Parts: sequence; C-alpha cells; structure tokens
Amino acid sequence: RAADPLTAAQLKDLDAGSARLAAGEPLAYITGVRGFWDFTVTVTPAVLIPRPETETLVEAALERLSAGETALDLGTGSGAIAIALARSGSAAVTAVDASADALVVARNNAERLGAEIQFLESSWFDAISGAFHVIVANPPYVAAGDPHLPALAYEPTAALVAGRSGLDDLNHIIATAPEYLLPAGWLLVEHGYNQADPVADAFRAAGFQAIELLHDLGGQPRVTLGRLKRGRMEKDRLKRGRIEKDQLENAHGSQ
Ligand code: GLN
Repeated sequence: RAADPLTAAQLKDLDAGSARLAAGEPLAYITGVRGFWDFTVTVTPAVLIPRPETETLVEAALERLSAGETALDLGTGSGAIAIALARSGSAAVTAVDASADALVVARNNAERLGAEIQFLESSWFDAISGAFHVIVANPPYVAAGDPHLPALAYEPTAALVAGRSGLDDLNHIIATAPEYLLPAGWLLVEHGYNQADPVADAFRAAGFQAIELLHDLGGQPRVTLGRLKRGRMEKDRLKRGRIEKDQLENAHGSQ
C-alpha cells in the first residue's frame, strides 16, 4: 500500500538507482521499462530506448497498412515499432535485427504484449526473402563524432552511429528496399533533423514517388516516406533488361 514504509531492500534499490541516475544513466535502463505508443516495453542496454519521435513513424505506417497486408521492421531493437504495428491487427509483421541480444529483448516484449511477429537475425535485408506492402526502419543515423553522442553513451553505438555522415544505413536501406517491396508498397524511415534533403534524394534515386516529409511532435523533420510504383517483379524484369543491354554493348566492344 502507498502508506507502507519502504523495506530495507527497497531503500537500497532506490539509493542504487538514484546513484546511477545521478551518474547520467537513462532512467529507462535503471527501471528497465519505457512507455511507447499504447504499451510499455522492457529495455536493456542491448537496445536503443524507444523515443517519442518514433511514434510519428508508427502513425504514418499504420495509415498506410490495410487489413491482411505485410510489414517489415528493419533494426527492430526493443521491438517497439513492430509490436505497435502487429497489435493494430492490420498487418502480418516480420522484424529483423543484426543483434542477437536485441532480438531476445524484442521477442520477450512481443510475447508479453501479445504481438505475433516473425523475428529474424539479419543485417538489414540479408536474411529476407519475399516482398512486403510496407517497410519501416528507425536505423542508426547519427554521424560519427556528432556532439550529441556523449549524451547517448549508455545506448548501443550500433543502434546510433552510421558512418561519417550518419547516412550509411539510410542510404543502403532506401536503395535496397525496392527489391523487397510489393507493387505500390511504401517505405518509411526515421532520420536526423538535418537529413531530410539527402534522404529525399535517395528516395528519388531509388525510384520512389509521392515522397513526403513528416515532422515529429517537437517540430523537427523526422520521417520520410515514399511509394514505389514498380514492385519487385517489374524491377527484376528491368534488371534483366539492363543486363541484356550491357551484354549486347560489351559484345559490340563499346567503351
Ligand atoms: N533519435 C535518436 C537520438 O538522436 C537517434 C536514434 C537513431 O539513431 N535511430 O537520440
């Protein structure tokens, strides 16, 4: 009961937790939980702590998913995004992470929250076969050497940092996604507040249309999405066509 005095063990926990908080450790790692969307996930230092910005991504993905469709969450971490999509009931969700430790956290969260998700250990698309209606990702997007990084020191670097510009993983995901999208499928990615232009360029270069930038609740540019007109099968046909053309040109000895 609220009026009960704390036990000695509880006081010890409280003191230890306060000391960790004072040393700069995020509260979510001390309590082991974080609220996201309409549920609570457990977190460990193996996963990024879900941010409210990412709810903008969830909301936009749900608007584009219809009952019976399929969704892929790349770099699922705690599983927060995948769980939000799966619990909506409108999508069969596959979620991947390159970290086996993260997948343990994600699987436990999904099970506890009654979200049916197919989990795979995979670096981005490496272990994926098949195509999806919607692909979402909140990849690492902070630049190595970014002045914000010291404040994020408790979180996994692999979930935060993506090369010198912070764009390495975003570029890979955007360029590769068309091979794993169904015709008229959507890609939605979270990115840094200053990455909207290069991300939109990458969407255009990969053949996406209806490219849109969404702002998070803090007013920052945060999510870019686009729709693929051509799906995987058309892409394959084009690729074959290109190869045949290349071979033809090589055969003719053109430079
Ligand atoms: N939004 C996070 C931050 O700036 C970064 C998350 C990410 O890299 N995906 O703290």
